[in-house]
Amino acid sequence: MITVSHLSKTYHNPDGSSLQVLKDVNCEINQGEVISIIGPSGTGKSTFLRALNLLDPPTGGSIIIDGEDILKKGYPIHKMRQKVGMVFQSFNLFDHMTVLENVIYAPCKIKKEPVEQAREEGLALLRKIGLAEKADVYPSSLSGGQKQRVAIARCLAMKPEVILFDEPTSALDPTMVGEVLSVIRQLAKEGMTMLIVTHEMKFARDVSTRIFFMNEGIIYEDGPAQQVFENPVHSATKAFVQRIRKEVFEINGPDYDFPGMETSIRQFCIKYNIADKCETALEAYQKMLKEVMHKYLPMTLRITHSELSNVTALDFMVECLESSPLRDPDVSPAFLEELGSLCKDVIEEPTSRGFRVKLIL
Ligand code: ADP
Ligand code: MG
Repeated sequence: MITVSHLSKTYHNPDGSSLQVLKDVNCEINQGEVISIIGPSGTGKSTFLRALNLLDPPTGGSIIIDGEDILKKGYPIHKMRQKVGMVFQSFNLFDHMTVLENVIYAPCKIKKEPVEQAREEGLALLRKIGLAEKADVYPSSLSGGQKQRVAIARCLAMKPEVILFDEPTSALDPTMVGEVLSVIRQLAKEGMTMLIVTHEMKFARDVSTRIFFMNEGIIYEDGPAQQVFENPVHSATKAFVQRIRKEVFEINGPDYDFPGMETSIRQFCIKYNIADKCETALEAYQKMLKEVMHKYLPMTLRITHSELSNVTALDFMVECLESSPLRDPDVSPAFLEELGSLCKDVIEEPTSRGFRVKLIL
């Protein structure tokens, strides 16, 4: 359906310097594929999507869509724009139009669909994404998640053959990520061809038929989702997909801002979609502090989460300590039992600088 060969893009800056963002991108995209594009920021993921629908024309290479080279001089851009829809991080709705007007604008203007027909189809699309009751309101009264669902409906209204999503959930409050991802999941089930730039690793693994790992201006690794996540060929891919999210708190004494730290732990859990582990994390840390760790200050508390393996841990680290704080004679067996039932595992281990108790949540 789409064949990209030796695609390159160089930006020339006003000061005379230049930056080659896309070096040599090659790929083949077949109908019905759901491809997630992952990779560090600044590696050209957005530039690649923008090149694909000529928002930002590439400087070299070719893009063949349905047998036609869209980079050829004279190729009608509007024809390609009807085939390739795009959904942006920042929604880009028209604020002065109602929700339904946003959805039917392009079908009426570009495809010259009769207004009545466009309205009917637009309403059906709004119903599909759960926003029919908002047809006549303005975007300013919608939440971020609702705005992004409208943006998806607006894109669908043009009946595209493929949809490009550029980090569709990155601008959203974490509580609204799910409603947008579930619309995209639904489209995947219906067989829509999609390219999705995303940082949501779990979503990418669940929904995609294929993953492109982009790095330094090329598609560094291209493979089935399971292979790229579980058995990547390149070490850079492995490091990226297996990266661990973490937040560290240096608790210097009893006057530390514990409430502030609890807020940070809550935000961490929401940000990485582990809200279900939040209460356990807070209960475990409070119990540990009250029963054991208050005697071991200063200490470092660390919360870590691996998106891929879904393992979350709380580390209590004390420098220059040779044995486990849990073996302190004042720690009761009842407490240890309680801790054991609260957590999936309790690991006590020496580190290069001291000792660590790791609670797996
Ligand atoms: P990603 O989406 O992977 O984070 P981008 O495609 O947005 O990466 O950007 C890749 C690189 O290109 C970045 O270094 C960015 O600063 C640069 N870049 C993007 N757009 C422009 C532009 N219009 N002019 C100059 N440099 C740009
Ligand atoms: Mg980007």
